Amino acid sequence: MKVAILYICTGKYDVFWNIFYNSSERHFCESVKKHYFVFTDSKKIESSENTTVIYQDNLGWPFNTMYRYKMFLRVKAELLGFDKVIFFNGNCLFNQNISYESFFGENKNIVACIHPGFYNKSKKEYTYENRVQSLAFIKDSYFYVQGAINGGNAEDFIRICEELATNIDKDLENGIVAIWHDESHWNAYLNNNYEKIKDSLHILSPSYLYPEGWDIPFDKKIILRDKNKYGGHESLRVGSHISLKSNLFRRFLSRIRCK
Ligand code: UDP
Repeated sequence: MKVAILYICTGKYDVFWNIFYNSSERHFCESVKKHYFVFTDSKKIESSENTTVIYQDNLGWPFNTMYRYKMFLRVKAELLGFDKVIFFNGNCLFNQNISYESFFGENKNIVACIHPGFYNKSKKEYTYENRVQSLAFIKDSYFYVQGAINGGNAEDFIRICEELATNIDKDLENGIVAIWHDESHWNAYLNNNYEKIKDSLHILSPSYLYPEGWDIPFDKKIILRDKNKYGGHESLRVGSHISLKSNLFRRFLSRIRCK
């Protein structure tokens, strides 16, 4: 078995890489071969036998996260050589041993994780994209998952990446950025297709995305490190040289040029 681990750390997010990598090597899927694909503009991270660094410009907020599916597709050919492909948020820390079977499930094709802020909330509190014009609009509601874990069988996951990358672009062409970016589109895919995919879907509990400093009734298998200890969201996201407005404007210009 071979697992491809996808990791994005543009701008200041490279601060999380070493502890992510070391904790993964120690605790995650010990019995199988793992390879890391790191999308980054950092000069501190180098390719090695088990790590491929892919240069990635800092696209600014929210494109560093919202364009994740496009980024992953840059290495589509390589990813198809793996059994499983899995993305983790930069600030994940593996805290306990996690077996391949417990994480990916038995005979399952897709893996997602319930958002720790919503496991005990009612459906009407889920922060789905609620504009019908968006391709992230949810027609059927079952659960709310966090964007910090996305993955599954290589072929299935690549197909989902292609669909979501296209949907995110189509939304942008209509001037829409879904409320929670990639997370809204990931939720839309899983909820709207639920009846079709439910037997092949492995949904993890918030044990696998346990926010540091919280007190919720789950084991701490993967800890989401507190970004406030690293300056907070805003500070971590600075240094981006492309703003949402300028990016939309560029796309607008390129469409005019094409015509
Ligand atoms: N990210 C990045 N650089 C940035 C912003 C985000 O590399 O400037 C990546 C990183 O992998 C991060 C993910 O996008 O974990 C999701 O972004 P963020 O952590 O801000 O989202 P949240 O924690 O709110 O889900």
